[in-house]
Amino acid sequence: MDEDTHPPEQPAAGPVVCARCGTAAEGGTAPVTWPSSVEDGRRLHFCETCARLHIRAIESRLDSLWW
Ligand SMILES: [Zn+2]
Repeated sequence: MDEDTHPPEQPAAGPVVCARCGTAAEGGTAPVTWPSSVEDGRRLHFCETCARLHIRAIESRLDSLWW
């Protein structure tokens, strides 16, 4: 079972970091190439590397919330 671990606590309006590997986005905002997912009311961002590795999990999470 590929259950995602909960990301570390993040400030609501702080620098954007990858929810999986913690890579900080340049400029403090998520690049357009970073997909995002909303989980528990928080927006999580994923860097390009993690997005490629975990696109299925990210997409499935989006689907479950969009329904
Ligand atoms: Zn990452």
